This record gives sequence, C-alpha cells and structure tokens, in this order.
Amino acid sequence: MLDTVVPLGPRSAVDSKLPYTALKSGEVALVGAGPGDPELLTIKALNMLRQAEVILYDYLVSDEIMSLVSRDAILVCVGKRAGAHSVPQQKTNQLLVDFAKQGYRVVRIKGGDPFVFGRGAEELEVLVDNGVQFQVVPGITAASGATAYAGIPLTHRDYAQSAMFVTGHLKDEDATVDWSTLARANQTLVIYMGLMKASLIEQQLTHYGRGSDTPIAIIERGTQSSQKVLYGCLSQLSELSQQAAAPALIVVGEVVALGKKLSWFESQQNQQSAYAQ
Ligand code: SAH
Repeated sequence: MLDTVVPLGPRSAVDSKLPYTALKSGEVALVGAGPGDPELLTIKALNMLRQAEVILYDYLVSDEIMSLVSRDAILVCVGKRAGAHSVPQQKTNQLLVDFAKQGYRVVRIKGGDPFVFGRGAEELEVLVDNGVQFQVVPGITAASGATAYAGIPLTHRDYAQSAMFVTGHLKDEDATVDWSTLARANQTLVIYMGLMKASLIEQQLTHYGRGSDTPIAIIERGTQSSQKVLYGCLSQLSELSQQAAAPALIVVGEVVALGKKLSWFESQQNQQSAYAQ
C-alpha cells in the first residue's frame, strides 16, 4: 500500500539517488507535515516518518499522511483544537524527552511548518535543556499551500509587494498589534486562527484605512480534497467567517481577486468526483 501511494520506497530506483538523513536512536525530528495534501510532504519528512519508532502528532496532520508511517510505530496523539488543549504542552514536552531518553527514534510532526505558529521552538528548548539531540524538517506552511491551491498569489508585481502572516489570537487591547501596518494597501495579509476574531479584524482593518471593498477569501482545509474557498470583501469578513469551519485561513488583499481566475484545484476535485460517479 505504501509503495503504491508514494514512489519513494527503499526499493525504488529514484530513492537510491536521493539524499538521505538517518534519524538516530534517542534523537527527535521536529517535522512539518504541510497543510494536508500528502504529496506536499518533503522527501525528508517522509524519510523521517518511515524511520520513526514513535510519532507524536497533532489533529492538523491529515489521516492520509499518518497512513504513510511505519506500521510498527507507536502513535501518540497530542492534538490541540482551538480552545481545547487535549494534552497540556508540558506533557508533550515530557513525552518527547522520555521517549528519546529511552532510545527511541522519535518524530514530532506538526501541521504546516513547525516554526510558523506551531510552538515548535518551545518543544526544542526543552529538548536542549535535557540534552536530547534533534533536527528540524520545515514544512509548507498553510499560508503558502492553501493560497497556491486556491490560485491566490501571495505577492504580485501589480497588487502586493509584501505579505504578512499573523495570528488571529488577538486581544482588543493588545498593544503589540500594529493595526496600521496590517491595514496597508497593496499588501497581502494572511491570518491564521482568525475565524473567532473576524469581526474585530474587520473593524480594526477598516478603522486603520483598509478599503471596505478590499477582496478577501476564507480558505477552509486548504490543499485537502474537501478544500473550500469563500470569497467576499472586507465588509463581509465577519459574516463570512460565521459560515466557515476551522482549520481556515483568512486572506485579505488585492491579490484575492486573481483567485477567481486562477482557481484550479477545486474544479479538478469536482471533475474527479464527477468521473467517479
Ligand atoms: N504550523 C501551522 C499553523 C498552525 S496554527 C502552519 O505552518 O500552517 C493552526 C492554524 O493554521 C489553523 O487555525 C488555520 O488557521 C491554519 N491552517 C492550518 N492548516 C490549514 C489548512 N489546511 N487550511 C487552512 N488553514 C490551515
């Protein structure tokens, strides 16, 4: 089954030509899983998953990706959902240290990139403090993967000279958020975990000068076969967010308008499901 899904098995001719890093006994690899489509895993991530004896994973890591791991691996779900931390961070840190100290080859896999709103660094600090060796495998972050699959370019010569990634876990009184910077025109703003704060975001961006007709998109489950994109303008952000479900990204900016023309993934998915019927 594994070899039919991914043409990178140890027996394939391609594999022998590729670089290969070993995951050592007692070592932890902090691995980014990308936004969901298993083909967006890096070769290194796949190599690590196949060598892992213990895998600690989040809800955000798709089932298709988890189906690629070694059948003998011990799987530990330390998932977090918005608001409900099923396993406290401290416990996850301790599990990583304990498994590594017992000599297991450990993979800690997280959705997207482990260093983008992923608390990856916090876990590594604990490993350093406990003398555990580690390596980091970056992943495609949701902002990059979901927009690509929605046909929305993050930058564009005419429409956006910069892109910003921000977390939606914002407080009204939060002085660390520079709304005037976020509200700049000709900039793409990608908001992670923003659905719950959509009305504050809409109000603040408008207040700081972003036009209420600025195009916005909400991308749900980006890169996954069930991906859904909702389009609107800034004045509809709060309303649209109520129709959306996590995990979702909010994208604000002129580039969003291109998504209507360059959208490709969802129509391919629809064609495939029509074909299957
Ligand atoms: N480390 C991750 C982000 C973790 S924070 C990364 O680099 O992508 C979790 C948030 O990421 C979610 O609330 C959502 O806003 C976003 N996200 C993750 N996967 C997503 C996906 N497939 N589609 C849309 N948004 C996603």
